[in-house]
Amino acid sequence: MSLNRRQFLQTAAATTAGLRLGPHLFAQPRYDLVITGGRVIDPSLRLDAVRDVAIAGGAIQAVEPSIAASAERTLDARGKIVAPGLIDVHTHAGRVKDGPLICLRDGVTGFIDAGSQGADGIAAPVAVVKAAPQPAKMLINIGRAGILPGGDTMDLARADVVAARDAIAGNRDVLVGVKARLSRDVCGNNDVEVLRRAREVVSPFNLPVMIHMGQTMSPIDQIMDLLRPGDIVTHMFAPPPNSLVDDNGRIRPGVLAARRRGVWFDVGNGRTGHLRWDTVDQIMQAGFWPDSFSTDWTPEGRTTQVLDFPNVLSKGLLIGMPLDAIIARATLNPSRMFEVFRDRGTLNVGAPADVAILELRDGSFEFVDNYGNTRIGKQRLFPSATILGGRFVS
Ligand SMILES: [Zn+2]
Repeated sequence: MSLNRRQFLQTAAATTAGLRLGPHLFAQPRYDLVITGGRVIDPSLRLDAVRDVAIAGGAIQAVEPSIAASAERTLDARGKIVAPGLIDVHTHAGRVKDGPLICLRDGVTGFIDAGSQGADGIAAPVAVVKAAPQPAKMLINIGRAGILPGGDTMDLARADVVAARDAIAGNRDVLVGVKARLSRDVCGNNDVEVLRRAREVVSPFNLPVMIHMGQTMSPIDQIMDLLRPGDIVTHMFAPPPNSLVDDNGRIRPGVLAARRRGVWFDVGNGRTGHLRWDTVDQIMQAGFWPDSFSTDWTPEGRTTQVLDFPNVLSKGLLIGMPLDAIIARATLNPSRMFEVFRDRGTLNVGAPADVAILELRDGSFEFVDNYGNTRIGKQRLFPSATILGGRFVS
């Protein structure tokens, strides 16, 4: 074999440099991060299989059985679940400064603060939500003084349409709807009127209403009649009076009609009055599965009942839902509920690289409803690591 001078010099230079400096300096690593060997569950791709996930430039670049190309960093996810970053549509993360970061560490790469404050006190949670590292928005409480121990809109004057509209108009970048809490201990007899006013608030903005159902004075069908496509019913597992099921365990007709026309039904775990195992059983036996899981996260809930979003999702396993169906209700479905998440909830190539790495542990785990009833589950999901926009956060 004979080489001309130019070929010789190239070969020599490559060999010397290769020996001295190693291969990495010849070219930048192809990817910023590769998550290897995890069980990737992404309902948006109808995928549940062991895959590598490659990330560069803050976006998903490849999801393949094996990715050999070089990466700045690799993350061994063997034995773990790799899912799109979780989206929690009912939290109160805006209530405390470190709320968004705590949720992010639990795998929550997008959240909605659902009505922590009304028009009068909106500035503080708006600032927290704006400063959140992950995409986040907020619903304004129709009660202008926010959540009150005596009831947000027990005094109907607090359901102030003009004040709420002005607050939305002044914070269009953060406020994406209105929250109306309709239980009797929140608004007494005013439920239907409060909801009517909530509708009035959002109508010029074409934004959704989220209602907090459960123990209302008015029958649930009457309330459902006022809901439109894109509206959200949270606390769907709330026990009677006025739960989603009638005394014979059948889903009420107004509820079925609401789902048919595009109203979403959300879990909203919370701590008081929103979830009782026997009501959950009835609703699940009727085949009426939630569209979304959510925590109703608060600093208090972090220590009891709610704990973290993966814990709330584990309750789906307990009530008989397959894991991929549960993940869909914390990723794909919520991405359709609010515009801000439209390109999220997926590991599709090109999507922002938001990833939740979870651990599904076997054992004996206690799950308490909002009434002190305990059930034992054999599996629980735990947060393991979070990637936000391609960056490893915890
Ligand atoms: Zn709430």
